[in-house]
Amino acid sequence: MNLPVPHAQLAALAERVAHLAPAQALALLAAEYPGQVAMSTSFGLEDQLLTYWVAEGGLPIRVFTLDTGRLFEATYKTWSATLDHYGIAIEAYHPQPTAVEALLAAKGPHSFYASIENRKECCYIRKVEPLARALAGTAVWVTGIRAEQSPNRADMALVEWDPAHGLIKYNPLLHYSETEVWAQVRAHTIPYNVLHDRGFPSIGCEPCTRAVAPGADPRSGRWWWEANTNRECGLHSSTPATETEPATHPHAR
Ligand code: SF4
Repeated sequence: MNLPVPHAQLAALAERVAHLAPAQALALLAAEYPGQVAMSTSFGLEDQLLTYWVAEGGLPIRVFTLDTGRLFEATYKTWSATLDHYGIAIEAYHPQPTAVEALLAAKGPHSFYASIENRKECCYIRKVEPLARALAGTAVWVTGIRAEQSPNRADMALVEWDPAHGLIKYNPLLHYSETEVWAQVRAHTIPYNVLHDRGFPSIGCEPCTRAVAPGADPRSGRWWWEANTNRECGLHSSTPATETEPATHPHAR
């Protein structure tokens, strides 16, 4: 998607939200872009805080998740707990069944361990393509990205243009520390994934995520078998990803 970057619109929006608390900024965006603001959740700590703000504020913001089919059971339990706690609708996007069937038939259930190309192929089928469908018609995508999660993310902006999907991305927690997020989660008794208490600061698919030592790079437990990669899977790519040309830009998630 090669829409022109709306620099003036981005700058004006960034200026307006810069001095607002995230909950206020989310309300502003929901009012300015009615029916066109969507939040993605993987039920990680940051996303749970965003969900709290959306739910408590009764904000008309779509909440969606990408159910890759390979998530931890603890993540599904967090999903259920979130529904029970807030009573909000969370849309689920799944990979195209025919694509998964073809991948499994050709390469089996663990092809991602064999090569980076295979891993990005699986991420494309299970995450990137469903994300594109989830974001169709969306003007503003709200994410739980934090700058301190990785050098790639430190380069991101509070309000930025996502050229891969042709929309504005708002990262309200960009400058939050992990400690600050935990403080909010505890203060508001927000349900969270128990894996965070077991050494998983970043939680993705079960076969591709493991616990890390205290103080270690928070994303080092993702695709740990890959050397010298940016621990990203293409959700936050700056260029459109294709199945044959997986996202490789350093901003790719
Ligand atoms: Fe596939 Fe692993 Fe990517 Fe999940 S994280 S989509 S299982 S390669």
